[in-house]
Amino acid sequence: MARESGIISWKELNPGTAITEPGNAAELKTGDWRSMHPETDRGKCIKCGQCYIFCPDMVYAKDEEGYYVQNYYWCKGCGICARECPVAAIKMIEEVD
Ligand code: SF4
Ligand code: SF4
Repeated sequence: MARESGIISWKELNPGTAITEPGNAAELKTGDWRSMHPETDRGKCIKCGQCYIFCPDMVYAKDEEGYYVQNYYWCKGCGICARECPVAAIKMIEEVD
């Protein structure tokens, strides 16, 4: 509900994506928060799994070839995976819309 000042509460900033209860992040499309997304260069990737280990939202899953793939539904674009990749195989790309 909007306050009399016209300033909306933080729960109204992005309806459907706000985490309002403890532990309910998996139910929400937290990827809507993102302004950048990670892309992996498979030519550089050594399949070490560091991105999987360090991602705070556990959005990586290993595919049938052993590469770690992001699930953009939950990826918030924090960039930790790109920072932690030992061979700089992950680049953060700005969202276009
Ligand atoms: S940008 Fe952040 S949330 Fe997205 S995959 Fe990398 S570490 Fe996870
Ligand atoms: S951290 Fe980098 S090299 Fe390791 S699996 Fe992820 S993308 Fe590949």
